[in-house]
Amino acid sequence: MTEIDLWCGPMYGRKTKDLILELRAAEREGLAVLAVKSMLDINRYPEIVVQSLGPDPRWIPAALTSFDGDRYPCMAVKEAAVILELVKKAGGYDRVGIDEGHFMPGLYKVVLELIEFGVGRILIAQLDLDFKRAPFCEIDLFRELATNVYQCRARCERCRGVAIYSQRLINRLPAFSTDPVVLVGSKLEGATETYHAACVNCHIVPNEGDFREPWFPE
Ligand SMILES: [Zn+2]
Repeated sequence: MTEIDLWCGPMYGRKTKDLILELRAAEREGLAVLAVKSMLDINRYPEIVVQSLGPDPRWIPAALTSFDGDRYPCMAVKEAAVILELVKKAGGYDRVGIDEGHFMPGLYKVVLELIEFGVGRILIAQLDLDFKRAPFCEIDLFRELATNVYQCRARCERCRGVAIYSQRLINRLPAFSTDPVVLVGSKLEGATETYHAACVNCHIVPNEGDFREPWFPE
């Protein structure tokens, strides 16, 4: 029977860190491990690519990277369906770790296919809520499917309280409720986008036209 582990929570909630530790432990046991993440993350952080584009433009060797700089080799995939292809091509894996699952629409269907293919354990790390505090894609389905759910928390970067949300800033100002959830690079030209862990009191999603102040006090 396939076991599913789900780490969910805000930015900086140690989700990737825990995923890396689990995958490394599995590797030490001699198990076959595949780690994947979305190519969207590569666009945001080009430095995590460890090799130039291979023969198949739908995946590229990269690294899972935790907030404290821990790294683990992975494949960055263009879409969730590529994960199943990589697993089949290798003849199966004991462990498949998926980071930033929220960047992969259609992941739930792929996970069901991985179960059918006989992957022993599937480990998923993802944000549970987007910057507007709405559930991310298929998070509720994954919660139902998971054998173990680890609800991660972080420290609010403004008041050090318990953070359950991710605050998105564009040029240091809270993003508007009307902003799209995932911005494509070109739309961000000239702007600086950052994400921060935030508690229920400090998290702000202003409506377009509202007066905004820098989220971090001057
Ligand atoms: Zn706070």
